[in-house]
Amino acid sequence: MHKHLLALAALSLALPSAANAQRYDARYGLEPGAHDEIAWDFLEGITTEIGPRLAGTPDEARARAWAMDWLRARGFDNVVNEPFPIQTWVRGEERARITAPFPQDMVLTALGFSGATPAEGLSAEIVHFPSVAELRAAPDGSLTGKIVYIGHAMRATQDGSHYGYFGSPRRQGPGVAAQKGAAGIIVRSIGTSNDRIAHTGATSWPEGVTPIPAAALSSPDADQLERILERADEPVTVDLLLTPQFLGETMSGNVTAEIVGSDPSLPPVLLACHLDSWDNAPGALDDGAGCAIAATAALRVAEQGQPLRTIRVLFAGAEETGLWGSSAYSAAHADEEMGVGLESDFGAGIIWRLETNFSRSNPGLFQRLANAVAGYGVLPAPQIRATGGADLNIMRDQGGPIVDLQQDGTGYFDIHHTPNDTLDKVDPEELAQNVAVWTAVAGVLANEAGDIAGPGIIAGE
Ligand code: ZN
Ligand code: ZN
Repeated sequence: MHKHLLALAALSLALPSAANAQRYDARYGLEPGAHDEIAWDFLEGITTEIGPRLAGTPDEARARAWAMDWLRARGFDNVVNEPFPIQTWVRGEERARITAPFPQDMVLTALGFSGATPAEGLSAEIVHFPSVAELRAAPDGSLTGKIVYIGHAMRATQDGSHYGYFGSPRRQGPGVAAQKGAAGIIVRSIGTSNDRIAHTGATSWPEGVTPIPAAALSSPDADQLERILERADEPVTVDLLLTPQFLGETMSGNVTAEIVGSDPSLPPVLLACHLDSWDNAPGALDDGAGCAIAATAALRVAEQGQPLRTIRVLFAGAEETGLWGSSAYSAAHADEEMGVGLESDFGAGIIWRLETNFSRSNPGLFQRLANAVAGYGVLPAPQIRATGGADLNIMRDQGGPIVDLQQDGTGYFDIHHTPNDTLDKVDPEELAQNVAVWTAVAGVLANEAGDIAGPGIIAGE
C-alpha cells in the first residue's frame, strides 16, 4: 500500500513535465522544433554578413544594401531606399577607475550622444542620487566639477514596462546633470542583467545644453559603487575617459519593399522594424529579429495567393539614435494614407497578446484577428489600446489603425543594447511562432476590403 502510494507520487511528479511539453505545443500551435527557414536566413545573414550597423555609418549603409539584395532575391517588388540626413555620433575609448578610497576598475559604456572627457581623462568626485527627481532637487551650482551617479530599480517584466518607467536616468539624467553644472554622469545600466556588461542607449540634451561625458555602468559595478559610497568616510573619486565623437550630418535611409496587392486603390498594410543596431553587437534581437519577422510574414501571406491590399515592409533607419527614420518616413508619406501599421521591435519572445486601436470602432475585424491567432496561444485584449512602436510615427501622425502583437519580453532587457545581443540569443521556435502569428494577422488585414478602422472613430484620436 505504502509502496503503491510512493509509486503514485513518483508518477505524479513525472507527469507535469510531459503535460507541460504538450501544453507548450498546443499553446503555441507549433510542432516541436518548428523553424522558419526564411526568417532565420534573414537573421543569420544580417547578423553574420553585416554585424553591428550603427545609424549614419558605412556599416548601416552596408546593411541597407544587403537588405535590399535580400528583399529582391526573395521576390519583393518596389525595393527602394529613401535617404534622409541625421546627426551621427560614434563611440571612442571608454574606461573608468575608482581612485579613492578603494581603487579599482569599473565596467561602463558611453551613452549615445555622450560628450567626451579631455583626452587625458577626467578626475572627479562622485555624487550619488537615487533618482532623477532627487538630482533635479540639488541646488544649482552644487555639482560643479563633480560626476553624478544615478541608480534605479528596474526589474524584468513580461511586457517590458519597467524600461519606460525606470529609463529616466539614461534619458533625462544627463541633461539635468549638465544643466546643474556637473562635469559628467554615470548611470546604472537601464537593463536587467547581472552580467558584468553595460547597456548603452541614447540620451538627449535639452536645447542649448552642451553634452557632458555620460556613461552606463554594468549592474554589478553599480552595486559595487553603491557599497563603496556607503562605506567610504571620504569623497569617492573616479578617473573617467570617454572619447566619443560627433560627426555632424551623415545619411541614413529607410528601405521599403512591397508585395503588390490586387487592388492598388486600397491603402497598404505597413509592417515595420528598424534595420540599424547599436555598435556593440550585431543586433540579433534588436532589431534583426523584428525585420526577419515582418519581411517573412509578408512573404508567407504571398505564398497563400496575391493579397487584396499591398503589403509594404519598412526597414527604418536610425531608430536607435533618435527615431530619425520613423520621423522621415512619416514626413515623406504624410499624404499617402496607410491602411494599418504593425511593428516588431522587442526581440523574438513568444507573442502572447493581441491589441489594436480599433477594437471598438471595428469589433468584427478585431474578432476575426483574435480567431486567427487563438491557436498560437495569443490572448485578445480588446480593452487595451494599441499605440504602435517607435517606427510607426506615420500611423500615429495619421491617426490610423494600429495592431500591437505583444511579445514576452521577460528576458529582453538582459540582452538589450549590450554586446550579448547575438544570434544565439534567438530561439528558432519562438521566432517561428512570431512569424506564424504575424502571417495570420497580416493575412487577415491584407485581404480586408473594408476600412480597417471600421465605421466608428478610432478612440482617442
Ligand atoms: Zn529596437
Ligand atoms: Zn534598441
